[in-house]
Amino acid sequence: MKLSDKKLWIFDVDNTLIRDVEHPEPFSDALGLWAKLKEKGVALAILTNVGRLSARQVHAVVKAAGFQVDVSHVFTAGAAAAAYIHNRSPGARCFVISEGGAQEDFIARGLDVTNNPPVDFVALGADRGMTFQELNFATKMVMKGAELICISGSLEYPGIYLGQEDVYIGERSITAAIEHAAGVSALVVGKPRPEIVLETVRALGSVPGEAVLVGDNPASDIAGGRAAGVFTILVKRPDNIVEFESGGLDTRPDLTVASLEEILGDL
Ligand SMILES: [Mg+2]
Repeated sequence: MKLSDKKLWIFDVDNTLIRDVEHPEPFSDALGLWAKLKEKGVALAILTNVGRLSARQVHAVVKAAGFQVDVSHVFTAGAAAAAYIHNRSPGARCFVISEGGAQEDFIARGLDVTNNPPVDFVALGADRGMTFQELNFATKMVMKGAELICISGSLEYPGIYLGQEDVYIGERSITAAIEHAAGVSALVVGKPRPEIVLETVRALGSVPGEAVLVGDNPASDIAGGRAAGVFTILVKRPDNIVEFESGGLDTRPDLTVASLEEILGDL
């Protein structure tokens, strides 16, 4: 299928549409492509590994940056983790470490977000205000048998928190402390796991062969998209590529562009 015939375009957020959710300046080539795809009438969706913001919050950020999309077409790693737990254990009791975003996605799914035992699942997203007490409690709950879920897999990421610009330790690194202490392996939910891409495609009533995934990161966007069987486009951004573990998946894109303007002629 030619690029012009694809029916669903899925976009990464950080460093693809906007610099990042805490510096939401849009990339002009992304705005141009988005407008062209809107004009064509194809389905547009967002799939982000950000877990510290809810789908509703990510929607507000991208909308303000100029990307019009329905909130039901915004998919986060936090919402995917909530769906995973809900499918296995509806209403499960979950201790969630995150900056509020994943908690919102979990509550929206009908899960019981709690700070007290008993706990069925411990879910850990990026959280720059996490306390030792929370980490200690999470570890103890895992030792008692709670399943450990890591919401996305960034080792570190750039951002701004309480006015402080920095590169922050990501959820994958914090989860590793619990894994080490409790002697377990966490389930990582997010790109590059192909399930999150397939679920996005399925939720929008499409199939992988009709879908395109656009992202800046070979180890998350491209590896996940490729493994799911969607057409992958890597847009080369100058910096800010967050470090992920690709888990041995193929990180070669179907198409690489220096600017998303390069594909306007193919649509
Ligand atoms: Mg990105």
